[in-house]
Amino acid sequence: MATPIVHAGLAMIAVSTPFYWQRQFSLSKYGASLAAAALLACLPDFDLLVSLLCTGDIRTWHFGISHSYLFALVTALVCRSWLPYDKCWWVFGLVASHVLIDSLTGAELGWHSAVEIHPWWPLPVGALQAPVTLFYGVYHGNWLAPYNMQVVSGDLLAFALPAASVVAVVLVEKLSARVYRQGG
Ligand SMILES: [Zn+2]
Repeated sequence: MATPIVHAGLAMIAVSTPFYWQRQFSLSKYGASLAAAALLACLPDFDLLVSLLCTGDIRTWHFGISHSYLFALVTALVCRSWLPYDKCWWVFGLVASHVLIDSLTGAELGWHSAVEIHPWWPLPVGALQAPVTLFYGVYHGNWLAPYNMQVVSGDLLAFALPAASVVAVVLVEKLSARVYRQGG
């Protein structure tokens, strides 16, 4: 799995885009969207917690059903009971982005095989192993291993910093527009 920093960072950048172009800006709605985006983009990795609680080993069900596009679709359909149609597409896209990112995650960047996952479950197409790795994965054996610390530091610079910058740009842009409107 890629770190939650990658999943949440890219999701926050994605949901910030429509807010940047909106004329009306609700601070609380933007904050709620950022939080929901981060949560949905990390949702498939809750299989680690479920595995730990049920079997004592976080890896038992990791990269299972929750890392499939069907899971993303079912999550969107469940949200359909209280969310409008267009928002459900966002839910699908954010959860599916996790599956896509993890399918391009591995130990070494470049033309090295990524981890094996089953994104098309339950279709009988077998496991997918991409020939290219774009994101570093984390080592599950020891969370505080030097390798993990290195990956987290790199992801903070490569994903958390750009995400924070985009959020800051949206806030400054919209709040200054609001001040200008009130002043005018
Ligand atoms: Zn994952």
